[in-house]
Amino acid sequence: MKTEIIRLFGIVQGVGFRPFVSRIAQMYRICGSVCNTGSYVEVIAQGDETARRQFYSDLIHKAPARSCILNVSTIIEDRKAYADFTIIESKIEKGSVFVSPDIAICEECKKELFDKTNRRYLHPFINCTACGPRLTILDAMPYDRERTSMGEFPMCPACHEEYTHVETRRYDAQPICCPDCGPEVYLLGRKERNRDAIVKAREAIYDGNIIAVKGIGGFHLCCDATNDTAVQRLRQLKHRPVKPFAVMMQDLAAAKRECLVSKEQEAILDGHEKPIMLLQKQEKTSLSHYIAPDNPKIGIMLPYTPLHLLLFTYDDELRMPDALVMTSANAAGAPICRTDEDIEQEVLGMCDLVLTHNRTIRLRADDSVMDFYDHSPYMIRRSRGYAPLPFFVGEEAGPSVLAMGGELKNTFCLNKDNLYYLSPYVGDMADIRTIAALRESMVRMERLLEISPTVVACDKHPRYNTTIMAHGLGYPVIEIQHHYAHILSCMAEHNCVHQAVIGVAMDGTGYGTDGTIWGGEILICDVRGFRRFGSITPFWQRGGDIAAKEGWRIAVSLVIQLFGDSYDVVQKLQLCDEANYKAQLFMTRQQINSVISTSAGRLFDAVSAILGLCRASTFEGEGAMKLQFAAERGQKMAVMPNITAPIKAGRQDRYIMPTDQLVQDIVQRRLAGEDISVLAYRFHVVLARLIVQACEKARDEVKSDIVALSGGVFQNTLLLRLCDTMLQQRGFTVLKHQLVPPNDGGIALGQAIYAKYHKGGI
Ligand code: ZN
Ligand code: ZN
Ligand code: FE
Repeated sequence: MKTEIIRLFGIVQGVGFRPFVSRIAQMYRICGSVCNTGSYVEVIAQGDETARRQFYSDLIHKAPARSCILNVSTIIEDRKAYADFTIIESKIEKGSVFVSPDIAICEECKKELFDKTNRRYLHPFINCTACGPRLTILDAMPYDRERTSMGEFPMCPACHEEYTHVETRRYDAQPICCPDCGPEVYLLGRKERNRDAIVKAREAIYDGNIIAVKGIGGFHLCCDATNDTAVQRLRQLKHRPVKPFAVMMQDLAAAKRECLVSKEQEAILDGHEKPIMLLQKQEKTSLSHYIAPDNPKIGIMLPYTPLHLLLFTYDDELRMPDALVMTSANAAGAPICRTDEDIEQEVLGMCDLVLTHNRTIRLRADDSVMDFYDHSPYMIRRSRGYAPLPFFVGEEAGPSVLAMGGELKNTFCLNKDNLYYLSPYVGDMADIRTIAALRESMVRMERLLEISPTVVACDKHPRYNTTIMAHGLGYPVIEIQHHYAHILSCMAEHNCVHQAVIGVAMDGTGYGTDGTIWGGEILICDVRGFRRFGSITPFWQRGGDIAAKEGWRIAVSLVIQLFGDSYDVVQKLQLCDEANYKAQLFMTRQQINSVISTSAGRLFDAVSAILGLCRASTFEGEGAMKLQFAAERGQKMAVMPNITAPIKAGRQDRYIMPTDQLVQDIVQRRLAGEDISVLAYRFHVVLARLIVQACEKARDEVKSDIVALSGGVFQNTLLLRLCDTMLQQRGFTVLKHQLVPPNDGGIALGQAIYAKYHKGGI
C-alpha cells in the first residue's frame, strides 16, 4: 500500500507532538504510526490522497505551539496496510538531537490550579503536554518519563488514564502527576509538608522574612519586594550592596503598574519563556527603593511554575504582596543551588526557611535576562527557556566541537554538523564550585545531545580555568583570542560567517595576542582569522586585578599619563587621597604591577570615577552602568552638545582611536564645572564617533560594509544606539546581537565556529 514516511526534525519532543499527530490522524482517518527517535519524529501515514494531503498540511501548520519544526523530509514507499494509527514507544537512533527548553506553566493549567473542582486544585506540580520542566529534569533522549527525574514517581491510575488517552491535555505528558502520585513540597529540616509547608512559607514572606524556594533550574532567595527592611536584610546577607535584584510580579497587570511594557515585551514577558526582562520603571512605584537603587530599569519576571503562583495565591486567606524579590540562591561566586545539600552548605545563613521539593533538578538553569533594543530582544543572559535551542550556522562538514567559553558569565557550546548548542548559564569560573558545575553540565549535555566532540576550543588566556580545563580533556585544543570570539559570536548569530566583517569589540578584559590586555578593539575578521586593525589609546592599568574593580585607579593612571605628576588634578576630581596617589605614582615610576590595557570597560570605569559617579565597583559593570544612566539623563537635559571628535588618530602598528584626548577633554570640562550628566553623554557621543571613524578607515582597507558590534560594553544600549545609528547613516550594515549575549555569555559560540572552520585543528 502507498505509504508516506515523514520525518520531522526540530523541537518535536516533549511538546505534545505525538498526541497531536495521533489526533489529526484520527480526524483524517489516517492509519500508520508516529514515533520519537530521539533526533526526529517519524510519521507513517496511509490513507487516500486528499486525506493525506490535509493531514500533512495540518502536521506542518497546526503543530503544537511549543514545537519548532526545523526540517521535514518525506519519502513514499510501498508497505503493508496498517489497521489503525498508533504511537510507538520511542526507539533511540543516532542523529541531531533537539532538546526542549523548560516551558512556563500554560493558561489552561493555571486555570485548573485554581479550580476547586479540579483534582489538581493547588497542586504545585501541575503541568501538561504544553508546559512544564523539560531540559532541567532530563537524563537522556528520547524524552520519556523514565529518562527524567519524574521516573521515580509512578503514575496513579487516574494520571495513567490521562497519559494514555489522546483526547486529554496530558496525553503523553512525561512529567504528568497529581497530589496522589507526584512529588511533594516540604520545609527543609522541619516537619511541615505539602499544604502546611506552603502556608508556612507564605506566612514567613508575609512577615518580612527571607525564604529559599526551589524553582525549575535552581533555588531562589525570596522576600517581599515592597518591604524595605526585608530587602535590605537580603542585601546584607547576600553581601550584595547595590546590584539590582530581580522581582517576580504576580501577573501582567501588576508588572504594568510598576513598569512600562511594550506589546513586543509583553509577548515575551508573559510568553512561555518568561525571562527576567529589564523594563523602564514607572514614575510611581510600590517596590522598595533598595531593589534597584538609582537604576531607571528594573528586572521583572512573571511566575513560571505552579509553586510560584501558589506563593502569591492560596486558600489560607493571607493577602500576599504582589511583588517578590527572586534572586538566585547561591554563595558569592558559586553556581545557583540545585539540591537541598547545596542549600545546606551555602545558603542556610541567608534565609529563614527553605521551601523545597523532591523532584530532582538534573541540570542547572538560571533565569534568562533580557533587555530590548529596537523592538527586539537583546539578550543579557541566555539560560532557562532558551537553552539548549541550537543556532544553525554555516555548513555541516567538520569536526564536532566543544567550546569552553570564557571565565566570567561562562556558558559552553557543543556543536555537531551545523548546529550549535549554547548551554545554560554556568557562572564565574574563579570559584572551584563553578568549575565543578561546568564539568557536570558538560558531561550531562554531551550525553543528552549525543555529541562526542573531537576538538576543544577555548580562550587564549593562559590562566583562565576554562583554558586549563580545555588542555586537560585529552582532545586537540584550539585557542581563540577573546574579542575575535566575541565578533564571531555576533557573525554566527546572523549566519554571516563567510564574509569579511569589521568587528567592533567594546569589552571588559581579554587576553591579547601581544600579551597585553585588550578590550576596545577594531578587528577585521572572517572565519579564518582576524587582524587587529585598531584600538582605543592604550593606558596603564596599575595595581593588579584590583584595578578592574576600582575605576579610580585607572582614572589616576590616565591623569598621570595626560597631565604628568599632578596631585592637584587628582585631588580636585576626588579620585583618591595623597597616600594612594603616591602609591600609584611609585608604581608608575618603577613600572611595577603595571600592564598595558586597551579595555573599553576599564575606560568607562575610569570616566565614571572622573565624573564622581562611581569610584569603585561592587559588581562588574557598576561604574559603566552609572555612567550610562547619567548620560541618559544628560541626553534629555542638554541640547546635543556641540561635539567635535578629536581629531588626530595616532598611528602605531595600528589605528588608534584617540580616547586619551577624549578623557583629557572630559577632565578639563569637569574641572571647569560643567554638568556631569552632560559630560557623561558627551563621552558616549564622542566615543561612538571615534568608533565610526575607525570603521570608515577600516572600510577603505577591507572593502566590507558589514560591522559587527559585540563585547560586554555593548550591553550599554545608549552606546549601541549611537554607534548603530551613525554607522547606518554612513552606509554600513550593522550586525547586532539579539539572542546571543554581547557579553562573555556568548563567546563559546564564537569559539566553536572558529574551531569548526579551523583546518589546522582537524
Ligand atoms: Zn499546561
Ligand atoms: Zn496521579
Ligand atoms: Fe569579553
